[in-house]
Amino acid sequence: MRRPILTANWKMHKTVAEAEGFVDAFLPRIATVRDVEIVLAVPFTVLDRVGQRLKGSAVQLAAQNVHPEAGGAFTAEIAVGMLADLGCRYAIVGHSERRSLFGEADEFIARKAAALLGGGLLPIVCVGESLGEREAERTFEVVRRQLEASLARVPKERAAEIVIAYEPVWAIGTGRTATPESAQEVHAFIRERLVERFGGAGAQIRLQYGGSVKPENVYALMKQPEIDGALVGGASLDPESFARLVSFEAQGESQ
Ligand code: PEP
Repeated sequence: MRRPILTANWKMHKTVAEAEGFVDAFLPRIATVRDVEIVLAVPFTVLDRVGQRLKGSAVQLAAQNVHPEAGGAFTAEIAVGMLADLGCRYAIVGHSERRSLFGEADEFIARKAAALLGGGLLPIVCVGESLGEREAERTFEVVRRQLEASLARVPKERAAEIVIAYEPVWAIGTGRTATPESAQEVHAFIRERLVERFGGAGAQIRLQYGGSVKPENVYALMKQPEIDGALVGGASLDPESFARLVSFEAQGESQ
Protein backbone atom coordinates (compact mmCIF):
# COMPACT_ATOMS: atom_id res chain seq x y z
CA MET A 1 0.00 0.00 0.00
CA ARG A 2 1.53 3.32 -1.07
CA ARG A 3 0.84 6.19 1.30
CA PRO A 4 -0.47 9.29 -0.51
CA ILE A 5 2.00 12.17 -0.60
CA LEU A 6 1.11 15.78 -1.41
CA THR A 7 3.88 18.32 -1.82
CA ALA A 8 3.56 22.09 -1.89
CA ASN A 9 6.08 23.73 -4.21
CA TRP A 10 6.15 27.39 -3.26
CA LYS A 11 8.77 28.22 -5.91
CA MET A 12 10.14 31.78 -5.44
CA HIS A 13 7.37 33.01 -3.16
CA LYS A 14 6.99 34.12 0.47
CA THR A 15 9.00 36.15 2.93
CA VAL A 16 9.71 34.75 6.39
CA ALA A 17 6.63 36.47 7.84
CA GLU A 18 4.42 35.17 5.03
CA ALA A 19 5.80 31.64 5.38
CA GLU A 20 5.26 31.60 9.14
CA GLY A 21 1.75 32.99 8.65
CA PHE A 22 1.04 30.14 6.21
CA VAL A 23 2.16 27.47 8.69
CA ASP A 24 0.16 29.01 11.53
CA ALA A 25 -2.98 29.04 9.40
CA PHE A 26 -2.34 25.65 7.76
CA LEU A 27 -1.61 23.34 10.72
CA PRO A 28 -4.96 23.79 12.51
CA ARG A 29 -6.77 23.19 9.21
CA ILE A 30 -5.16 19.78 8.69
CA ALA A 31 -5.34 18.57 12.30
CA THR A 32 -7.76 15.79 11.40
CA VAL A 33 -6.07 14.64 8.17
CA ARG A 34 -4.75 11.08 8.53
CA ASP A 35 -2.84 8.67 6.31
CA VAL A 36 -1.51 11.36 3.98
CA GLU A 37 2.09 12.54 3.93
CA ILE A 38 2.23 16.33 3.60
CA VAL A 39 5.41 18.04 2.43
CA LEU A 40 6.24 21.75 2.14
CA ALA A 41 8.99 22.54 -0.40
CA VAL A 42 9.87 26.12 0.44
CA PRO A 43 12.55 28.63 -0.61
CA PHE A 44 15.95 28.15 1.03
CA THR A 45 15.53 31.47 2.85
CA VAL A 46 12.57 30.24 4.90
CA LEU A 47 13.59 26.61 5.46
CA ASP A 48 14.92 27.25 8.94
CA ARG A 49 11.94 29.20 10.26
CA VAL A 50 9.33 26.98 8.59
CA GLY A 51 11.17 23.93 9.97
CA GLN A 52 11.01 25.40 13.48
CA ARG A 53 7.29 26.07 13.09
CA LEU A 54 6.60 22.52 11.83
CA LYS A 55 8.26 20.84 14.83
CA GLY A 56 5.79 18.58 16.60
CA SER A 57 3.64 18.24 13.47
CA ALA A 58 3.78 15.41 10.92
CA VAL A 59 4.35 17.81 8.02
CA GLN A 60 7.70 17.25 6.31
CA LEU A 61 10.11 19.94 5.21
CA ALA A 62 11.62 19.96 1.71
CA ALA A 63 13.96 22.05 -0.40
CA GLN A 64 13.28 22.84 -4.05
CA ASN A 65 16.79 22.08 -5.23
CA VAL A 66 20.22 20.94 -4.04
CA HIS A 67 23.79 20.73 -5.33
CA PRO A 68 25.31 17.26 -5.71
CA GLU A 69 28.69 18.10 -4.19
CA ALA A 70 29.13 17.90 -0.42
CA GLY A 71 30.79 21.31 -0.28
CA GLY A 72 33.38 23.52 -1.96
CA ALA A 73 33.69 26.43 -4.34
CA PHE A 74 30.14 26.48 -5.72
CA THR A 75 29.01 30.04 -5.08
CA ALA A 76 25.35 30.35 -4.06
CA GLU A 77 24.74 26.61 -4.07
CA ILE A 78 23.37 24.53 -1.17
CA ALA A 79 24.66 21.08 -0.20
CA VAL A 80 22.70 18.07 1.07
CA GLY A 81 24.32 18.32 4.52
CA MET A 82 23.08 21.90 4.87
CA LEU A 83 19.53 20.79 4.15
CA ALA A 84 19.83 17.90 6.59
CA ASP A 85 21.02 20.38 9.20
CA LEU A 86 17.75 22.30 8.83
CA GLY A 87 15.61 19.19 9.17
CA CYS A 88 14.72 18.62 5.52
CA ARG A 89 13.37 15.21 4.62
CA TYR A 90 13.03 15.72 0.85
CA ALA A 91 14.35 17.87 -1.98
CA ILE A 92 12.79 18.34 -5.41
CA VAL A 93 15.22 17.64 -8.25
CA GLY A 94 14.79 18.11 -11.99
CA HIS A 95 11.77 20.42 -11.85
CA SER A 96 10.97 21.48 -15.41
CA GLU A 97 11.76 25.10 -14.50
CA ARG A 98 15.26 23.99 -13.47
CA ARG A 99 15.60 21.97 -16.66
CA SER A 100 14.35 24.65 -19.05
CA LEU A 101 15.38 27.94 -17.39
CA PHE A 102 18.67 26.82 -15.83
CA GLY A 103 19.80 24.19 -18.31
CA GLU A 104 19.88 21.29 -15.87
CA ALA A 105 20.46 17.99 -17.64
CA ASP A 106 19.49 14.47 -16.62
CA GLU A 107 23.06 13.55 -15.60
CA PHE A 108 23.23 16.48 -13.16
CA ILE A 109 19.82 15.54 -11.77
CA ALA A 110 20.97 11.94 -11.34
CA ARG A 111 23.93 13.15 -9.28
CA LYS A 112 21.63 15.24 -7.09
CA ALA A 113 19.28 12.30 -6.47
CA ALA A 114 22.21 10.08 -5.48
CA ALA A 115 23.69 12.77 -3.23
CA LEU A 116 20.37 13.17 -1.42
CA LEU A 117 20.08 9.44 -0.78
CA GLY A 118 23.68 9.35 0.39
CA GLY A 119 23.05 12.22 2.80
CA GLY A 120 19.89 10.90 4.43
CA LEU A 121 17.33 12.84 2.38
CA LEU A 122 14.94 11.63 -0.29
CA PRO A 123 14.61 13.00 -3.82
CA ILE A 124 11.35 13.98 -5.49
CA VAL A 125 12.45 13.49 -9.10
CA CYS A 126 10.44 15.41 -11.71
CA VAL A 127 9.89 14.26 -15.28
CA GLY A 128 7.49 15.41 -17.97
CA GLU A 129 7.14 16.33 -21.62
CA SER A 130 6.75 19.79 -23.18
CA LEU A 131 3.75 20.79 -25.28
CA GLY A 132 5.76 20.36 -28.48
CA GLU A 133 6.85 16.88 -27.42
CA ARG A 134 3.27 15.89 -26.58
CA GLU A 135 1.99 17.21 -29.90
CA ALA A 136 4.72 15.30 -31.70
CA GLU A 137 3.56 12.17 -29.81
CA ARG A 138 6.89 11.88 -28.07
CA THR A 139 5.56 11.84 -24.47
CA PHE A 140 6.49 8.25 -23.70
CA GLU A 141 9.90 8.47 -25.35
CA VAL A 142 10.76 11.67 -23.42
CA VAL A 143 9.52 10.39 -20.08
CA ARG A 144 11.36 7.08 -20.57
CA ARG A 145 14.62 8.89 -21.33
CA GLN A 146 14.28 11.28 -18.38
CA LEU A 147 13.48 8.43 -16.01
CA GLU A 148 16.32 6.19 -17.13
CA ALA A 149 18.90 8.95 -16.98
CA SER A 150 17.71 10.73 -13.82
CA LEU A 151 17.49 7.48 -11.85
CA ALA A 152 20.72 6.01 -13.20
CA ARG A 153 22.49 6.32 -9.84
CA VAL A 154 19.64 5.19 -7.58
CA PRO A 155 20.59 1.81 -6.07
CA LYS A 156 17.90 -0.87 -6.19
CA GLU A 157 17.86 -1.27 -2.42
CA ARG A 158 16.95 2.42 -1.92
CA ALA A 159 14.53 2.74 -4.83
CA ALA A 160 11.32 2.25 -2.83
CA GLU A 161 12.05 5.42 -0.84
CA ILE A 162 12.21 7.88 -3.72
CA VAL A 163 9.27 9.84 -5.13
CA ILE A 164 8.68 10.58 -8.82
CA ALA A 165 6.62 13.56 -9.97
CA TYR A 166 5.15 13.39 -13.45
CA GLU A 167 4.56 16.97 -14.52
CA PRO A 168 3.59 17.62 -18.14
CA VAL A 169 5.25 20.99 -18.74
CA TRP A 170 2.22 22.33 -20.62
CA ALA A 171 0.10 21.84 -17.49
CA ILE A 172 2.38 23.65 -15.03
CA GLY A 173 1.03 27.04 -13.98
CA THR A 174 -1.23 27.19 -17.02
CA GLY A 175 -4.55 26.12 -15.55
CA ARG A 176 -4.56 23.23 -18.07
CA THR A 177 -4.60 19.93 -16.20
CA ALA A 178 -4.06 16.58 -17.84
CA THR A 179 -7.30 14.62 -17.63
CA PRO A 180 -7.19 11.99 -14.87
CA GLU A 181 -7.21 9.31 -17.58
CA SER A 182 -4.32 10.75 -19.58
CA ALA A 183 -2.28 11.33 -16.40
CA GLN A 184 -3.04 7.74 -15.36
CA GLU A 185 -1.86 6.49 -18.76
CA VAL A 186 1.56 8.11 -18.33
CA HIS A 187 1.76 7.05 -14.66
CA ALA A 188 1.06 3.44 -15.68
CA PHE A 189 3.86 3.70 -18.24
CA ILE A 190 6.21 5.10 -15.56
CA ARG A 191 5.25 2.29 -13.20
CA GLU A 192 6.13 -0.31 -15.82
CA ARG A 193 9.53 1.29 -16.40
CA LEU A 194 10.20 1.42 -12.63
CA VAL A 195 9.33 -2.23 -12.16
CA GLU A 196 11.53 -3.14 -15.13
CA ARG A 197 14.41 -1.19 -13.60
CA PHE A 198 13.99 -1.93 -9.87
CA GLY A 199 11.82 -5.07 -9.70
CA GLY A 200 9.44 -5.22 -6.70
CA ALA A 201 10.79 -1.94 -5.31
CA GLY A 202 9.52 -0.19 -8.43
CA ALA A 203 5.96 -1.06 -7.40
CA GLN A 204 6.47 0.74 -4.09
CA ILE A 205 7.72 4.06 -5.49
CA ARG A 206 5.15 6.82 -5.05
CA LEU A 207 4.16 8.74 -8.17
CA GLN A 208 2.90 12.30 -7.88
CA TYR A 209 1.06 14.12 -10.62
CA GLY A 210 1.80 17.83 -11.04
CA GLY A 211 0.29 20.50 -13.27
CA SER A 212 -2.49 22.87 -12.17
CA VAL A 213 -3.75 20.58 -9.41
CA LYS A 214 -6.50 22.36 -7.44
CA PRO A 215 -9.01 21.42 -4.72
CA GLU A 216 -11.58 21.02 -7.51
CA ASN A 217 -9.66 18.39 -9.50
CA VAL A 218 -7.50 16.64 -6.89
CA TYR A 219 -9.99 13.91 -5.99
CA ALA A 220 -10.45 12.64 -9.54
CA LEU A 221 -6.68 12.55 -10.02
CA MET A 222 -6.03 10.82 -6.70
CA LYS A 223 -8.59 8.12 -7.50
CA GLN A 224 -6.48 6.89 -10.43
CA PRO A 225 -4.72 3.65 -9.54
CA GLU A 226 -1.17 4.82 -10.28
CA ILE A 227 -1.49 8.39 -8.96
CA ASP A 228 -0.24 8.38 -5.38
CA GLY A 229 0.01 12.09 -4.78
CA ALA A 230 0.37 15.58 -6.19
CA LEU A 231 3.08 18.19 -6.57
CA VAL A 232 1.27 21.51 -6.31
CA GLY A 233 2.50 24.98 -7.23
CA GLY A 234 -0.03 27.81 -7.37
CA ALA A 235 -2.73 26.18 -5.27
CA SER A 236 -0.26 25.47 -2.46
CA LEU A 237 0.45 29.12 -1.69
CA ASP A 238 -2.78 29.68 0.18
CA PRO A 239 -3.21 27.68 3.44
CA GLU A 240 -6.93 27.20 2.93
CA SER A 241 -6.48 25.93 -0.61
CA PHE A 242 -3.61 23.56 0.25
CA ALA A 243 -5.49 22.28 3.32
CA ARG A 244 -8.44 21.43 1.04
CA LEU A 245 -6.06 19.69 -1.34
CA VAL A 246 -4.54 17.44 1.29
CA SER A 247 -8.09 16.62 2.46
CA PHE A 248 -8.79 15.22 -1.00
CA GLU A 249 -11.11 12.48 0.29
CA ALA A 250 -13.40 15.17 1.73
CA GLN A 251 -13.25 17.04 -1.59
CA GLY A 252 -14.51 13.91 -3.32
CA GLU A 253 -17.47 13.61 -0.97
CA SER A 254 -18.47 17.21 -1.58
CA GLN A 255 -18.39 16.86 -5.41
C1 PEP B 1 4.76 22.89 -9.95
O1 PEP B 1 5.22 23.88 -9.43
O2 PEP B 1 5.43 21.88 -10.00
C2 PEP B 1 3.40 22.93 -10.47
C3 PEP B 1 2.84 21.83 -10.88
O3 PEP B 1 2.78 24.17 -10.50
P1 PEP B 1 1.21 24.45 -10.69
O4 PEP B 1 0.49 23.59 -9.68
O5 PEP B 1 1.05 25.91 -10.41
O6 PEP B 1 0.85 24.06 -12.08
